[in-house]
Amino acid sequence: MDRLVRYPLLNTTLLFHRIIPSGVTTPMEMTVDDFAKVVVRVSQYNRTWRGQLHPIVLTFDDGYRDNLELAVPLLEEHKQCATFFITGSKYHHSDPFWWEQVPLITSQSTRDWLEIELPNKKMKCDMRTQVGRDRAALAISKSLRPHRQSVITKTLCSLKDQVGDLELFCPPRLTENEIRELASIKGMTIGGHTEHHEFLSTLTPTEVSHTVNVNLDWLEVLAGERPRVFAYPFGSRASVAGHVFDSVRSCSIEKAYVNWPASIIPNLDRYRIPRKVAT
Ligand SMILES: [Zn+2]
Repeated sequence: MDRLVRYPLLNTTLLFHRIIPSGVTTPMEMTVDDFAKVVVRVSQYNRTWRGQLHPIVLTFDDGYRDNLELAVPLLEEHKQCATFFITGSKYHHSDPFWWEQVPLITSQSTRDWLEIELPNKKMKCDMRTQVGRDRAALAISKSLRPHRQSVITKTLCSLKDQVGDLELFCPPRLTENEIRELASIKGMTIGGHTEHHEFLSTLTPTEVSHTVNVNLDWLEVLAGERPRVFAYPFGSRASVAGHVFDSVRSCSIEKAYVNWPASIIPNLDRYRIPRKVAT
């Protein structure tokens, strides 16, 4: 809890991914008890901040079901708004994310070594100890991140072939009906987050427009209006380098969020709105 009350009480946008019932959390998760404390703190601050509406903005990325089940009731109880940036399209909205599959592959491998061949390097990962498996999951994820979807898909297939039988327990994503429900709740806004959660700087401008627009087309049907806000997948400086800002701007997006923190100042570029990851 201590870390939660240290959030700078300036105009800040907080980024959440999953809210879980209890247990040990990863950097992508927060327990519902800790989230409740954040919402109380944010609601106290937002109520008292010189009459401006919601100086602390709450956002959720990727579109997990627990956002609706666990976070939204607390947001409603404390009258807080939030924006949910949801990945997917009409054809792809329930596939597990690749970075969720990597640790499942390494933890279930019965081989001593896993081999990976990427365009820029080969990796041989030691699976003989738990420490080795954990290290491998991190190293593989880090190495895959800046690659195109086709490379990631091919690498995952190769890893799955090496491991054999695999059980994929990935956290459930919002169904289409649940996105409709979320969009109908007062104060909850739906935003775009691309079709496949690509590392956008690896794509051409045309490919960026495609993945953004396919995602917005799908969300428009579910939410009843076309989202005008967007969060860059991964949101790091490397992932949004080059033409990415201009390509996103061309998709009728009005505001876009990155994943690095900074105070929100007057005349901020609304295609580079900073966020602080809430962990
Ligand atoms: Zn994301």
